[in-house]
Amino acid sequence: MSELHKFLFEGLPVRGMLVRLTDGWQEALRRRESAGAFDAPLRRLLGEMSAAGVLMQANIKFNGAVVMQIFGDGPVKLAVTEVQPDLSFRSTAKVVGELPATDGGRLPLEIMVNVHGQGRCAITLDPKERLPGQQPYQGVVPLNGEDGAALHDLSAVLEQYMRKSEQLESKLILAANDDVACGLLIQRLPIEGTGNLEGGAPEVDPVEMAEHYNRIAHLASTLKQEELLTLDAPTILRRLFWEEDVRYFEPMTGLDGPRFACTCSRERVADMLRSLGQEEIDSIVAEQGQVEIGCDFCGQHYRFDPVDTAELFTDGADTPPSSSRLQ
Ligand SMILES: [Zn+2]
Repeated sequence: MSELHKFLFEGLPVRGMLVRLTDGWQEALRRRESAGAFDAPLRRLLGEMSAAGVLMQANIKFNGAVVMQIFGDGPVKLAVTEVQPDLSFRSTAKVVGELPATDGGRLPLEIMVNVHGQGRCAITLDPKERLPGQQPYQGVVPLNGEDGAALHDLSAVLEQYMRKSEQLESKLILAANDDVACGLLIQRLPIEGTGNLEGGAPEVDPVEMAEHYNRIAHLASTLKQEELLTLDAPTILRRLFWEEDVRYFEPMTGLDGPRFACTCSRERVADMLRSLGQEEIDSIVAEQGQVEIGCDFCGQHYRFDPVDTAELFTDGADTPPSSSRLQ
């Protein structure tokens, strides 16, 4: 089952999170398959985006969707992950043309989305209940580093985003294959005034605190993607931080944890078909033998055979029950 682990380092302004998307990520890929699976390097990028999106959503106190979009100037024109406050996520991409062939299913960002150095990554915080005139917050970063060189990995792009937009030093490790999408985030917290340090707390030395963060971030950076993909979360965290004083919180899993969810459903598609009218639907069935609709976001296909489409207009779903069923 997918899970999210939160932890902090006792007495230090450093916190961390580790996410493993298993069943939810597999469900996302399974749905996409019916519409034609994405190439392996793109599946990997979308998996990393999904894991990172969940980490970012879990990291903020905000009642709204976190939307991560990569606007590409290469064969991948758009890659999107959307994560709701309940940690449900969905991801999709638009590809024009073909990705170059690869051996290990890996391609750096500059081959997929930053061929001409014009790729962008946008993070949007879209409030659930928007006040009149309120715009969603959006931060945009290029897919190049501060020295102008192309960044190969999503983790480097997002570290740059968090440093620029949130003023938070962060270490991010991401990895994904067709079974699991994972992320480890270590973040340095701002020291907020002196209010929380009163009452005999030892004085905080900013240089010393920076050293603590650097040490922990360095430990995190020794984690290999292969280990992140194959080891369970407690093993990873124990191996990395066995010398640190870490407080672990109850893992978030099941309905409280990250999971796949798309807003599409067979009922919604049926409502849409009903709104087209029986004549239109009958003509499609006459031509194609059935009606088939794919969700633009998750790729799920909904098929309505002639019996299904006949039922759309005869089962009384579009008439009030009192007028037909009670007679
Ligand atoms: Zn869908």
